[in-house]
Amino acid sequence: MPLLVMKFGGTSVADLDRIANAAEKVKREVERGYDVIVIVSAMSGKTNELVGWVEQTSHLYDAREYDAVVASGENVTAGLMALRLQEMGVPARSWQGWQVPINTTSAHSAARFVSIPRENLDAKFAEGFKVAVVAGFQGVSEEGRITTLGRGGSDTTAVAFAAAFDAERCDIYTDVDGVYTTDPRICGKARKLDRIAFEEMLELASLGAKVLQTRSVELAMRYKVKLRVLSSFEDTDENSGTLVCDEEDIMESKAVSGVAYSRDEAKITLVTVEDRPGIAAAIFGPLAEAGVNVDMIVQNISEKNYEGHTMAVTDMTFSCPTNQVARAKKALEEARAAKTISYDDLVVDTEVAKVSVVGIGMRSQSGVAARMFAALAAENVNIKVIATSEIKVSVLIDRKYMELAVQALHDAFALDVA
Ligand code: ADP
Ligand code: ASP
Ligand code: MG
Repeated sequence: MPLLVMKFGGTSVADLDRIANAAEKVKREVERGYDVIVIVSAMSGKTNELVGWVEQTSHLYDAREYDAVVASGENVTAGLMALRLQEMGVPARSWQGWQVPINTTSAHSAARFVSIPRENLDAKFAEGFKVAVVAGFQGVSEEGRITTLGRGGSDTTAVAFAAAFDAERCDIYTDVDGVYTTDPRICGKARKLDRIAFEEMLELASLGAKVLQTRSVELAMRYKVKLRVLSSFEDTDENSGTLVCDEEDIMESKAVSGVAYSRDEAKITLVTVEDRPGIAAAIFGPLAEAGVNVDMIVQNISEKNYEGHTMAVTDMTFSCPTNQVARAKKALEEARAAKTISYDDLVVDTEVAKVSVVGIGMRSQSGVAARMFAALAAENVNIKVIATSEIKVSVLIDRKYMELAVQALHDAFALDVA
């Protein structure tokens, strides 16, 4: 039997009516002759609520228990979806991660797949079941504990199943009808793309476009999964949505093809750090051990008159997600107490956001950064940190200007016209 993977995100299974709506879409594919693996998210808002409960109970929580709690949202929707399908006369069975089993590493809250053996699901399909409803976002570690894959992880579950079961396609059903030039919720002029290259999607996702989890795009690229994003609220067919595909299959060749933003960024500056070999390692080593995802880094060397003598010192600035600031501060304060680093002050700014422009066309077209900076200057937006790579330019700015910056950049690069 040909097999499809269909993933439904939180808003697509937000209540019983929406679960029924999603189940109708699954039934239609079964009627077309497919076996279907359905991957479900938790009902929208549920995972946030569960995370909130964990944080209220324990400030620097044990990640194993975090996973035990937050994985539960998907269990509910998996069971409900299977029940709904059965009510419609479609033979369906639900699967939690450990039952498949979805074997992962034991990196709790950021686990990675190790293997997804096919035997159990294949046996059920052989018995005549047409649909396997699998709880997204979760797996089981070698120690037998429940793990989760990081926020938005159900996308990755979907792609991993598509790869493991040689699915004809992996359809990601969500609350927008495809991938846009930027988040259509904050830019009215955002334009839907029929196709987007894996590399661009990867970059957009990793820079904050949450329509697909970064890891899902990586896996799709590696295993050549036919990946599509489409609406769960509209009638859809073979040609609906956005296809994520190889660069060769794209017609457009603009320097910039999308704008991404990430709201929950924090900027941390260590003031007056000694400028000597090994200082970066002494700072970022403990941060890595504490599980802090450091993103942008800037170091400003200066000669300072320090306690009577001139010495080379530096201010070290880096960014990380806001919810990791407490961990970062603790790691740095411990390193200071252990005298492996010294600094005068630790300044935290949690009111920043990152805005990025992305495009594979940047490889061959110059001047993108300059155009970006000019567009931000015209709106009086001050840039705090800059980072560039082959196909992106990112800036850290005050969060209150984030939407304005996204719209200005969308205009500056004329992304509303094909
Ligand atoms: P789901 O719950 O279905 O996984 P998400 O909320 O994780 O859905 O992702 C869909 C959302 O991603 C959209 O509602 C949209 O606001 C946001 N988004 C951000 N950037 C983009 C983009 N470039 N194209 C489409 N949607 C985007
Ligand atoms: N429910 C999880 C989250 O909100 C996983 C997902 O929806 O992809 O992050
Ligand atoms: Mg999502």
